[in-house]
Amino acid sequence: MNLKFDGVTVDYHSEGEDSLRALDGLDLAVASGEAVSIIGPSGCGKSTLLRLAAGLMKPSSGVVTIDGSVVEGPRQGTALILQDFGLLPWKTVHDNAELGLKIRKIPVKERSERTHAALQTVGLAGFENRFPAELSGGMQQRLALARAIAMDVDLLLMDEPLSALDALLREELQDTLLDLWRQEGHTQILVTHSIEEAVYLGQRIVVMAPPPSRVVAVIDNPDAGSREYRLDNRFFERCKEVRRALDEGVCKAKEAQL
Ligand code: ADP
Ligand code: MG
Repeated sequence: MNLKFDGVTVDYHSEGEDSLRALDGLDLAVASGEAVSIIGPSGCGKSTLLRLAAGLMKPSSGVVTIDGSVVEGPRQGTALILQDFGLLPWKTVHDNAELGLKIRKIPVKERSERTHAALQTVGLAGFENRFPAELSGGMQQRLALARAIAMDVDLLLMDEPLSALDALLREELQDTLLDLWRQEGHTQILVTHSIEEAVYLGQRIVVMAPPPSRVVAVIDNPDAGSREYRLDNRFFERCKEVRRALDEGVCKAKEAQL
């Protein structure tokens, strides 16, 4: 599926305060099967962008489309994964993974097959009867991924999904995300605070600046998508390029305020 933002502006209105412009005329097109990383300082509208793509809110002006149709609400093929995993603590690993299929009333046999396959894919086979509290943070995030994969989504949106994990676990999960994306072929948007993560996992890196929020750079990163890349000099060069774009965005935003 193709996802497109056309001149998207979002104003938040809070009681007794001036309205706040979270996104200002955002243009962005994500091609089918593409993996895009989004990076930028807190408050620059990254989560807002994902909520719009997931159909959880509408722009104040401009339009968000998927395959040419305006996104008016949540859609079956889209999953949004958050930092806090979104698991139900009183349900087992199996039942958490199958939740989306159950809500869609998929027949029991097919449900069970797809749940099993998804748990296998993320490396959680054998843990079906555990409860989330009995899993490590990394395994909990794998479970959240299994739930999305079981639903056979074609658009996977992730909002800082690995931020709660320690550094080594985080790299392991980055590899899992990479493998999943290559296997499943979905379109992916990953919001992250980590430059290395953005460069490892995004074929394009969208760099956003502090409010008044805009896209300061879109950096092509065609080498993303292999495990070897992380050890390659080109990887470090690209990280530097992203860092420069981030710094530049912050400087320009400060100048604009003066
Ligand atoms: P990011 O994810 O990049 O940190 P957000 O999209 O969460 O940024 O928020 C962008 C700006 O919009 C921030 O200044 C934030 O405080 C504001 N904002 C986000 N959600 C709301 C809301 N529901 N009501 C009012 N302001 C909001
Ligand atoms: Mg956010």
